[in-house]
Amino acid sequence: MNREAVRYVDKHGNVLPSYDHLKVAMLLDLLGVRYSVKTRGEQVVLETDNGAVLPGMLGAEPLDRMAKVIEISDSSLNFDYAHFLPDSPKCSVLHGHSSRVTVEVAGYPVDDMVVEFGEAKRIVKGVLNELDHKLIVCGRYVEKLRGGRVKVRFVGKDGEYELIIPENSTYIIDGESTVENISSHIAGRIAERIRRNNILYVKVRMSEGFGKAASSHTWAME
Ligand SMILES: [Zn+2]
Repeated sequence: MNREAVRYVDKHGNVLPSYDHLKVAMLLDLLGVRYSVKTRGEQVVLETDNGAVLPGMLGAEPLDRMAKVIEISDSSLNFDYAHFLPDSPKCSVLHGHSSRVTVEVAGYPVDDMVVEFGEAKRIVKGVLNELDHKLIVCGRYVEKLRGGRVKVRFVGKDGEYELIIPENSTYIIDGESTVENISSHIAGRIAERIRRNNILYVKVRMSEGFGKAASSHTWAME
């Protein structure tokens, strides 16, 4: 997309300089607050009828330039897992992988930090520990049995599998256990646990063996 071609216009026909301005204008319209668009020096601001200039931060820098990204990558951020993908010719056999994970957390710094690094690493390790040395499996192949066991049934390329295994050795996710879905699940779990309103997104890059990796973003603020 050619960014120069993008024009942000509010519902009164005012041309605004950024998407951030437009979001504020839409919010004011939603709240029924009347405003006018003014230029102060080199900055375009929205001024309400009672004199409030919104938002103060628009005057300084665009929001996306104020956001910072921290990267958490460490040889300890890895885990092993088993899985199967019935619809894939090669991966429909039960097999395992060793994965390395790199995590990015983006957000607006609070006290000069997006999130305290040690805390972020503890959260990431906690999430990975839940998956480590488990059979990661889509819920639709799993049937609960009594006595803390489950039956996992699927049809692979050479025929039907039926496994009775302890429930504690499985980790159930919503979709098929592709590297894309697993990385997206991990990003979601990390975002849930960080739970700070300055966080924009959590991105997880997960490798699955040699030369295969996927990245997933979870947006923390909708
Ligand atoms: Zn695989």
